Amino acid sequence: MSKVWNYNAGPSMIPPAVMQQAQQEFCDFQGTGIGIVEMSHRSPEYTAVAKEAEALLRELMDIPDDYAVLFEQGGGRGQFAAIPLNLLPEGAHADYFVTGHWSRCAYKECSERFGKAILHECVVENADGRYSIDYSKMQVTPGAAYAYACLNETVNGIEMFKLPDTGDVPLVVDMSSNILTRRIDVRRFGAIIFGAQKNVGPAGLTVTIVRRDLLGHSSKYCPSVLDWTVLSQYDSMYNTPCTFSWYMAGLAFKWIKNLGGVAELEKRNQAKAELLYNFIDAHPFYVAKIAPDSRSRVNCVFTLKDESLNAEFLAAAKENHLIGLKGHKVLGGMRASIYNAMPLEGVEVLVDFLERFAKAHS
Ligand SMILES: *Cc1c(COP(=O)(O)O)cnc(C)c1O
Repeated sequence: MSKVWNYNAGPSMIPPAVMQQAQQEFCDFQGTGIGIVEMSHRSPEYTAVAKEAEALLRELMDIPDDYAVLFEQGGGRGQFAAIPLNLLPEGAHADYFVTGHWSRCAYKECSERFGKAILHECVVENADGRYSIDYSKMQVTPGAAYAYACLNETVNGIEMFKLPDTGDVPLVVDMSSNILTRRIDVRRFGAIIFGAQKNVGPAGLTVTIVRRDLLGHSSKYCPSVLDWTVLSQYDSMYNTPCTFSWYMAGLAFKWIKNLGGVAELEKRNQAKAELLYNFIDAHPFYVAKIAPDSRSRVNCVFTLKDESLNAEFLAAAKENHLIGLKGHKVLGGMRASIYNAMPLEGVEVLVDFLERFAKAHS
C-alpha cells in the first residue's frame, strides 16, 4: 500500500509514532500480559496512565492548579449541553458569540433546551466578498452567567486570534479543533472544552478544563455524567471512562512534549498554513473565502473557481492517495485539515497536487 495523506477533519490523522506505540503495546501493556483495553480503569497501571496524561496536559498548556481537568465522554455536543447545565442558573442568561457552524449548534442547544441564550452574530462580509470575525460584536450583556465562543470553527475554517474582553463574565470556549495547536493563556478562560478526535487522538474522549470556583452550581437536571462537579470529585472516574482514548491522548501529549511543546507546534502550524493559503491566494484556479485575519491555521476551507470540477478533483486526489479533502456537507467546497499530526511534507504534497490539477484543467 502506498502512503496515504489524510486531510480528514475528524476523526483525523494521528502521529505515526503514536499509532505505532499503541500498536506495540496493544496486546501486552508494559508487561502486564493484557492489553490496555482489557484493564480495569481502577488498576494501579491504568491509574498511572490516566494521571500521567493529565499531568502532561497541565504541563503543555501551563494549566494552573485552580483549574480542574476532566476526562469525559459525550463529545463536543455533549459539552454544548453540559455548559448550560453546569453554568447557567435558572432564569439567568448567557451570551453566545457565533462565528460558524459549531458555535451556532452550541447556541441552539442552550436556547432550545436549557435556558436563555443571547445570539451575537460575529462574522461579517468585507467589501471584497471575504469573511472576517468582527470582534466588536462580542459584547457581553449585563448579568450574563457566561460568554461562549468557538476558537476554531472546523467547518467554516474560521479561527479567533483575539479574545473578547468579557470583564468578570467567564469566557467559555470550544477548542475541539485547535487545542494544543498554538499557545493560549488558560487564565483568560472560565472553561475550555475539546473533543479529542480532531487534534489529540481517537474519538470518545472529551476534555473540560474549568476554573474550580465555577464548580458547584450545576442544575439539578444535569446528568451526573455531565456534571463537572461530580466528575472532579471522582477524578473523572465516576463511571468508566473511555480508557483507550484517554491512554492514546497521553501518548499524543508525550509526543508533543518531546518535539518541543506547543510553541514548537505553533511555529510548524503557522508555516504549514502560510504555505497552503499563499498558494491558494496566488492561484486563480482556487478561492479562499475567509479573510487572512480570520483564517483557520488547521482547517483550510477553499473552493475551485469552477465548481463543476469538484467530483473530478476529489477523484483525482484519491488517485494520488490524498483523502479527506471534501468540505463539510453544510458548506460544500473543499477543506484540508492540517492538524498537529500533519507534517509540512503533507502540505507540500497537497500544494503540488493542487498545482498539477489546476494545470491539467486550465
Ligand atoms: C467536531 C466538533 C464538534 C462536535 O464534536 P462531537 O464530538 O462530534 O460532538 C464541536 N465543536 C467543534 C469545534 C468541532 O470541531
